[in-house]
Amino acid sequence: MVHRLLSAGLLVTPRIIEVFERLPRHLFVPDPMSAQAYGDHALPIGFGQTITQVANVARSVEMLELRPGAKVLEIGTGSGYQTGILAMLCHHVFSLEVIPELAAGAQAVLKRLGFKNVSIKVFDGSYGWSEHAPYDGIVVAAAAPEIPAPLVAQLKPAGRLIVPVGPLERQHLLVVRRLPNGRIRTEDAGDVAFVPLVGKFGQPGIRKEGSVR
Ligand code: SAH
Repeated sequence: MVHRLLSAGLLVTPRIIEVFERLPRHLFVPDPMSAQAYGDHALPIGFGQTITQVANVARSVEMLELRPGAKVLEIGTGSGYQTGILAMLCHHVFSLEVIPELAAGAQAVLKRLGFKNVSIKVFDGSYGWSEHAPYDGIVVAAAAPEIPAPLVAQLKPAGRLIVPVGPLERQHLLVVRRLPNGRIRTEDAGDVAFVPLVGKFGQPGIRKEGSVR
């Protein structure tokens, strides 16, 4: 898996390559799927959700440009795989998930692996997690119709927000940077397909578990 990500140019930073080599991805997918955990596709994790395609995890994590002391907010814990990757690269990860069973599952596997720098909460992440703001990096693992304003507000100056933005079928992965002068700069890192972000600043007409209202 790591070789594939390297040859595709998706992993470049040595300390990021190392954490992708170390974190066992098969522990984050349901048992019947564990043989496919290292393939290049999204896999079902229950409740209508999927573990993010590893190429998109690599892309998002590289674009965050995290320092070891960083405080990160993740929206859409899901399986907890990306949460674990982030936790190995920064000081603390705060992660929000709307489906309680997924939050509990991720919490259990991360605890079993010995992670102590992760806080997971069941909450609509489109509002962010203001209590612990501001963040050096925010990464959204579900597709938003527009850049969620509360997330931009919770970034530190020079912080980065990685968010897939667009309609349900296909989105653009955006890197939103808060410049020291308070302005925002947005870059487009290419086409992606993520499951929908639900909630207040999520996709209209979509409920939890991806079903149409
Ligand atoms: N990075 C996770 C992604 C799972 S899919 C993984 O690789 O396993 C995206 C997740 O976002 C789903 O679990 C979904 O329930 C969650 N989600 C969708 N909208 C959300 C919201 N508004 N707040 C928090 N989580 C949300």
